[in-house]
Amino acid sequence: MKEKGPEGKTAVLEKNGKAGESTQERQKKMKVAEKPASQNAGQPATAVSEGRSRQADLPARFIERRMRPRINTQQPPPQAPPRLEDYEAIIGKPELDEIRFLARHLRGKTVKMVNSTAVGGGVAEILNRLIPLLTELEIPTRWDVITGGNDFFEVTKGFHNALQGGEYNLTQQIKDIFMSYSEQNRQRMEFAEDLFVIHDPQPLELVRSKSQKRGKWVWRCHIDLSNPHPGVWDFLKPMVEQYDATIFSAPAFTRQIASPQYLFYPSIDPLSEKNKDLPEEYVNKVCDDFGIDRSRPVITQISRFDRLKDPVGVVESYKLVKKYVDCQLVLAGGGVSDDPEGAVVLQEVMEAASEDPDIIVLNLPPWSALEINALQRASTVIVQKSLKEGFGLTVTEGLWKEKPVVAGAVGGIPTQIVHKLTGVLVHSVEGCAYQIRYLLTHPEFATQLGKNGKEHAKENFLITVNLKRWLLLFQVLLGIAKPNTAL
Ligand code: UDP
Repeated sequence: MKEKGPEGKTAVLEKNGKAGESTQERQKKMKVAEKPASQNAGQPATAVSEGRSRQADLPARFIERRMRPRINTQQPPPQAPPRLEDYEAIIGKPELDEIRFLARHLRGKTVKMVNSTAVGGGVAEILNRLIPLLTELEIPTRWDVITGGNDFFEVTKGFHNALQGGEYNLTQQIKDIFMSYSEQNRQRMEFAEDLFVIHDPQPLELVRSKSQKRGKWVWRCHIDLSNPHPGVWDFLKPMVEQYDATIFSAPAFTRQIASPQYLFYPSIDPLSEKNKDLPEEYVNKVCDDFGIDRSRPVITQISRFDRLKDPVGVVESYKLVKKYVDCQLVLAGGGVSDDPEGAVVLQEVMEAASEDPDIIVLNLPPWSALEINALQRASTVIVQKSLKEGFGLTVTEGLWKEKPVVAGAVGGIPTQIVHKLTGVLVHSVEGCAYQIRYLLTHPEFATQLGKNGKEHAKENFLITVNLKRWLLLFQVLLGIAKPNTAL
């Protein structure tokens, strides 16, 4: 198989393939699944592989675990946030000194960050780590959360989808609901800080409290605004344009607005449970708990069961690979209990997978960060075969763990994956299969991709990089640093 060959065709796979162990004989021996997967949908702590067909020559302990994976049903207590010095081992002292130096000029400046939820979701996760770090740098940072009734959050959810290109029927009543809750929040909150950072569209209207005398206002947009619903955008745009700065997560997510724009990549925390180093024994334990055989290659996709993540496409790719290389596929996701569409997609995945017991499907509860970390670390190849994507944090997580990542060339993924340098980009089921198989049969190349990927993540997508960008932006906004051009 040529490294620079045309991307994925089954024919290429077959022609170039050194035949690995075929599964066809074994598949004949398999029993048909006894219980449809949908019976498990909606139960976050339940093994969805229960009742799956058995593979006759699979050691008994794997058969047992795959039918009844041990899934942690107890939410662990929250981890204490790390201190700045804890990052020294990862980024080095000079980088940490640079952060401290940048913060020196901002000492005593106050910041207010506002979003719409204290728990759940990527924004809350980032704020939980960023705010203690800013505060430790003597930049007192307060986190406020806006409140509202169900009607408000229905409207803001509608806006969220409409801004990313969804259909929406914007009425005067909807605008009134948005404005009236925004006003209530504005009245309830004080705006005495030097810097205000407003996250996403829900609290956008708070900018009406902007005073000419004091305080700079930043809108941190975490979503893709490139193709918004025109009516919703026309309604929100005048609010956006009152901000002193706006921040987007990728160049492709922005649009023409009057306020200055900055690019901040999303980031991961290398010390969080999802990303910290783990003892090999723990990784082994998680694999044992889920029936994963570490003596054979493991291909993993961690994702919500959502069609745009294309889990069925991943199964199809795996099946093409499996003709030549004896490997396993782990599809781990969650959130099916409060997402009816997720349950349907999970069912589709189970149907696609039902013939093959080496496909391990896990419906994990929301507190599975350590388990996800272990699954990623146990993987030979990490896949994120999205058809549409925001930034794609699972890709970042895979890169950080020094894994070769195969991912759809959509959304923010090409920012993270430089094709054949920090990972590989794919556009089809066959392409995905081709690349996975190539990586499984060329371990040196896979190792090199993993190493490059980790460096790329370290340079660009760690929370410490993000922290530095905030410090620079705050300096610019307060007139402490004067840029020639936008950051
Ligand atoms: N994730 C998780 N549990 C799951 C599936 C995903 O904790 O069952 C995490 C995953 O590790 C990543 C995030 O959720 O940190 C997903 O972010 P991403 O940007 O990849 O996709 P999104 O779900 O936001 O579209």
